Amino acid sequence: MSTPYQGKRRCFGEYRCTQCNRSWMSANSWANYGQECTSCKINVMPHKQRPLLKPDGLDKSDPEKSHPRELCQKCKALGRFCGSSYSRF
Ligand SMILES: [Zn+2]
Ligand SMILES: [Zn+2]
Repeated sequence: MSTPYQGKRRCFGEYRCTQCNRSWMSANSWANYGQECTSCKINVMPHKQRPLLKPDGLDKSDPEKSHPRELCQKCKALGRFCGSSYSRF
C-alpha cells in the first residue's frame, strides 16, 4: 500500500481501476490511502499524485459534497470528511 506522494497533507490524485478501467481524479488524495471504484467496490491506489496548487480555490467548490466519503479510505480511517480540518488553515 504505497503511493507516489508520501507527504502528510492531502494532494491531487489520479486513480484508475484495474478491473473496469474507470478513471477518476480527486483533490482529497492522501499518501498510502486509496479510493474505491464505484462499480467494482475495490480499493484503488492513485497511480499519479501531485501537490494541490490552489487548495483554497478548490475548497470553495464545496469539496465535501463532491468528495465520495464512502469510497475514500482516508475518510473511513478518520470516520469523518478527510479534507475539512485542512481547509481551515
Ligand atoms: Zn472498477
Ligand atoms: Zn476522503
